[in-house]
Amino acid sequence: MCLLAFSIPQTGCAKGGFPVSGQDFCFDTVCSLTIYDMDAGGSKEAKAVIDEAFRQCAMYEGMLSRTREGSDIYNINHADGKPVACDPVTVDLLQKGMEYSALSGGAFDITVGGLAELWDFKSDDPSVPPEKVLKEAAAHTGSEHVEISKNSVRIREPGCRIDLGAIAKGYIADRLTELFEDRGVSSAVIDLGGNIVCVGKKKEGFFEKKFRIGIETPYSDRTDITGVAELSDETAVTSGVYERYFEAGGRKYHHILYPKTGYPAETDLLSVTVVAGKGKSCDCDALATICILKGLDEGKKLIEGMQGYEGLFLDREGKHHTTAGFDYEKIM
Ligand code: ADP
Ligand code: MG
Repeated sequence: MCLLAFSIPQTGCAKGGFPVSGQDFCFDTVCSLTIYDMDAGGSKEAKAVIDEAFRQCAMYEGMLSRTREGSDIYNINHADGKPVACDPVTVDLLQKGMEYSALSGGAFDITVGGLAELWDFKSDDPSVPPEKVLKEAAAHTGSEHVEISKNSVRIREPGCRIDLGAIAKGYIADRLTELFEDRGVSSAVIDLGGNIVCVGKKKEGFFEKKFRIGIETPYSDRTDITGVAELSDETAVTSGVYERYFEAGGRKYHHILYPKTGYPAETDLLSVTVVAGKGKSCDCDALATICILKGLDEGKKLIEGMQGYEGLFLDREGKHHTTAGFDYEKIM
């Protein structure tokens, strides 16, 4: 599994014991947390914060995963239309997802679970599901089938399944940002498989500078970067059609699906990176996916119309397009 964006290591003299890093595999991807400085405390305290953050990741995964038996989402999906009592976090995230469904005119849809299930990108021998099967699953898709009443959630439509894969990592990155700040972390990078938050500036001894985040060259398997974004107290989320895909009959099939047909979005974009102030990682996650679904013209207009957001769009011809305020350095 490749990462779409990552913090570029830079040499320099760091404060004793820093940076402190940890890596874990969560949400089907590699997650890295690095602390460069804390208001009080040293590497021991930083390590404790990282451990606590990974415990939270495990907790959120156990709550929000579509495939994990016993998670809120699994329970809702398998309740045969009965209401399921959920954690307020699940309800909050479902509501966010429904807002983005409305904003995108239904292109973004948290009920793509039934369709996502049919596309097995992890299989050694993946195949394109039959059109009839996709059509049937698509007919049961639509966030209007999800009913939320206080902390209880039910799906009214048989066969309709929730999947929060397009926003959960961003949401969790926001929660980890809060945790870091609460624990006095003043300089850090949270990287949940391409959902990045830069807390503060990069602290190296007496020096402070913005974090440099590499944007992966599409299909390069994390070997090349095509550009660099400089961030501080900001989040950057990348969505790409090359992150999860397979080839069959000379065509590439990727994981961002049109809810109405069940087929991968026919987009003119290979990747989209959305940047905003820290605390907005969930929004950036939803928006990056929406831009892939909408394509360059509509996606760029959408981000331009949103205050505090910037976007980088890599198209199929290898061209880079950015909104006016994107602090970005093209490499190749
Ligand atoms: P990443 O896998 O890097 O997090 P995205 O944030 O773009 O990439 O999310 C893709 C995931 O979102 C898919 O794996 C699937 O679970 C889900 N998904 C696919 N199509 C849609 C859609 N139209 N609306 C909402 N979620 C989707
Ligand atoms: Mg997303």
